[in-house]
Amino acid sequence: MNARFGANPCACGGLRGPLLGRRGLMVGAALLACGPARAQTAGPANPALVADLVVASHILFNQGVVDAFGHISARHDRAPDRFLMSRSMAPGLVTAADIMEFDLDGAAIDPRGRAIFLERFIHAEIYRARPDVTSVVHSHSPSVIPFGITGVELRPVYHMSGFLGGGVPVFEIRDAGGPATNMLVSNAALGHALAATLGPHRVALMRGHGSVAVGANIRQATFRAVYTELNARMQAEALRLGPPTYLNDAEAAAANDTDDVLMGRAWELWVRQAAG
Ligand code: MN
Repeated sequence: MNARFGANPCACGGLRGPLLGRRGLMVGAALLACGPARAQTAGPANPALVADLVVASHILFNQGVVDAFGHISARHDRAPDRFLMSRSMAPGLVTAADIMEFDLDGAAIDPRGRAIFLERFIHAEIYRARPDVTSVVHSHSPSVIPFGITGVELRPVYHMSGFLGGGVPVFEIRDAGGPATNMLVSNAALGHALAATLGPHRVALMRGHGSVAVGANIRQATFRAVYTELNARMQAEALRLGPPTYLNDAEAAAANDTDDVLMGRAWELWVRQAAG
């Protein structure tokens, strides 16, 4: 992993390089003090970003996308090679104090003894592979599971899920991890393989496990995770009645553009619900 950032593990050599390369001196300045080999924090994230991450965790629970398991992350607003996610806990209970900073190797910057998610490599490797992505949701939302195990392709059945247009790939963990994994994406190699399967898409399914949804911001990733679950539920229902007519690629693309404009309405409602 270090090879991607240069061989020097020191915070001065190993981390300043890529940060300066992509963000300029402003970000690098926080790391100029050379000392311990441990990676240093990129500094506090925007409190509004942390607040959105917390409320998105609650929304995903309220909407039935996550239960006690699953997680959402956001790329750090001051350091593109860092991301934020909660310590290992149920998303519905997350507070701002639970949000931790990670690097793209999945290492916690200031762990302080806190338990961290085994599957943080899902997030790390997608951020590494996809500069356009600043938020990732991983869930086991139930209606999606059948599409990962049957070969029946998840496709957009209505205008709220145009983001599914262009295809929804399925990650087969046996291809990267062999026939006897515990199904979890618990190391960088598996995360890298999952990110490769995702490719340029917005959603990928994980056979026998769940799915990932990505977005250019927390709201978009949350919206896509919610409507992936709803689309799966409706598509399965439709398949019981007869062969569905799916949105074609042009309809899906146009609907996706419209949803990007309108999703603030859903966010406003969901935030209000989450506030009780
Ligand atoms: Mn999982």
